[in-house]
Amino acid sequence: MSDLKARLIVITGAGGFIGGHLVASFRARGHKSIRAVDIKPLEDWYQRFDDVENLSLDLNQKENCEIAARGAYEIYNLAANMGGMGFIENHKALCMLSVLINTHMLQASLKHSVAGYFYSSSACVYNADKQRTFAATSLKEEDAYPAMPEDGYGWEKLFSERMCRHFREDFGLRTRMARFHNVYGPWGTWYGGREKAPAAICRKVIEAKLKGEHEIEIWGSGEQTRSFMYIDDCVKGVDLIMESDILDAINLGSSEAVTINQLVDITEEIAGIKLRRKYDLSAPKGVNGRNSDNTLIQKLLSWEPDTTLRVGMEKTYRWIYDQYLARKRGESRVVRELFVASH
Ligand code: NAD
Repeated sequence: MSDLKARLIVITGAGGFIGGHLVASFRARGHKSIRAVDIKPLEDWYQRFDDVENLSLDLNQKENCEIAARGAYEIYNLAANMGGMGFIENHKALCMLSVLINTHMLQASLKHSVAGYFYSSSACVYNADKQRTFAATSLKEEDAYPAMPEDGYGWEKLFSERMCRHFREDFGLRTRMARFHNVYGPWGTWYGGREKAPAAICRKVIEAKLKGEHEIEIWGSGEQTRSFMYIDDCVKGVDLIMESDILDAINLGSSEAVTINQLVDITEEIAGIKLRRKYDLSAPKGVNGRNSDNTLIQKLLSWEPDTTLRVGMEKTYRWIYDQYLARKRGESRVVRELFVASH
């Protein structure tokens, strides 16, 4: 085992979607010393591995961040209050409170002389004025300023990015930051109010199919454009960015922009059905048009997220389908435990 693989990797938000995949990926790459931290009780984590140190801690509290950071070689801070538009538009204060997590984790990283710190920012930092039309505006990194991000959640992300930058400049902490654009895939939130568009649409289509219904409700006019990054690309990008010399926050997203209607078309095609669409124009829908401009990541890493939406949605749909049936039978925990045992 190389020395590097024995060093302690800490992942916060590890009971959630992306954090869980990051833990899985470090394990798969042979890392032997991993600490996974999340506020949720262990039985509610999406993925959990017995050979990892799993801690249930509230990282809003400074003393818990110190427990989390002790002995760490690298920290990946994925913990945040997070959800789709329905959640972030209605929980702005809660989203902004995630600033406590990043503040205390940065301080704890300094105290424990951590060699590297990754921060997961978001496309929600971009100036709202650049996203008013339905045309998929490709957002370049410089479009975050002058600042007018998504209220609440986006302001917290932009502020935390700057704090990471100044901890690097003033205190010499090696920080790296990526602005994720809509990540989707298996082992993510797919019901309950925090789910994002790809998972929500999969669930609604599956529900209609299994119940023999013929209609689907869509938030907004369906003309909003977005791009969606498959989880495997996200995990790969985090690794490349962490290893790189890229000091400023960089886009990590797919540049395959689609309208929400096209996302529904793809999901219907996978499910083999066609549904009537009912548009709820009063529902939270976010900005009108947004895409990831990948010029910079292409230039600096000679790579960009490249899993097609059709391929990623197929995998996501199949996973949610199985979860849906298991949940109906009251077996969701059994499915998760099986996963843990078999990997
Ligand atoms: P997620 O909600 O599945 O995971 C976040 C985890 O953080 C949750 O398990 C939650 O319990 C945990 N958490 C919240 N408060 C905590 C606290 N006080 N202490 C410890 N843990 C706490 O979300 P995700 O999709 O995996 O997102 C991970 C990160 O990526 C977040 O920072 C999010 O803002 C960012 N991001 C995600 C997307 C996306 O499309 N999923 C897009 C942009 C940015």
